[in-house]
Amino acid sequence: MTDQAEKRRRMVESQLAARGVRDPRVLEAMGRVPREVFVPESLREYAYDDTPLPIEAGQTISQPWIVAVMIEAAAIQPGDLVLEVGAGSGYAAAVLGEMGAEVVAIERHEALVRLARERMLLLGYRNVDVEPGDGSQGRPGLAPFAAILVAAGGPRVPEPLLAQLAVGGHLIMPVGEADEQVLCKVTRTGADSYETQPLGAVRFVPLIGAHGRDGAGPGDL
Ligand code: SAM
Repeated sequence: MTDQAEKRRRMVESQLAARGVRDPRVLEAMGRVPREVFVPESLREYAYDDTPLPIEAGQTISQPWIVAVMIEAAAIQPGDLVLEVGAGSGYAAAVLGEMGAEVVAIERHEALVRLARERMLLLGYRNVDVEPGDGSQGRPGLAPFAAILVAAGGPRVPEPLLAQLAVGGHLIMPVGEADEQVLCKVTRTGADSYETQPLGAVRFVPLIGAHGRDGAGPGDL
């Protein structure tokens, strides 16, 4: 086993399974996706540390544990159409792809989109599509999504994302102030009904855009 593969195995065991991540498909997928490919070359030796890391364009790749918690909460099934808002490095999108989801991942920084696309090509994730744009508006033309993961924090869940969630689907998003949010799991229980469950305190970079921190649109919850 290579050094990185051994570090990955230990990350799954000590950071994820030992802290309560139970879904074997999440654990297996994160045991397979090479996180070192998704961080800048100078930080590769830290790729399996228990922490977020800086990436290009002044953004971050999330801590492995929070990626696992969000994906487990979304209850992804193979073949599900999943929207990720805030593709960043592309790591979480690759984990979703490894689990067999059809992934549309939106990122506002073109440089990050280019890098994430190169990584998907390199690793063979043909079921992961990384697109540039304002993810706070979702992708109405592709909806409904079985699950929506928002990897950036906003004051409220953008209304377009709620509208694009399939009935029975889950949306996971950090909601709250700029310096601290609550990770929320929103389940669409009917055409006009949603239930929200708090999953714990988190700290994410801001969701920018029409329905983000500075551009809340009317109707957002
Ligand atoms: N999931 C990512 C990963 O695995 O590397 C980590 C995402 S990082 C914590 C949050 C990302 O959200 C940043 O790359 C930021 O540029 C992006 N972002 C913020 N607002 C956005 C928006 N409205 N649309 C698309 N991307 C956005």
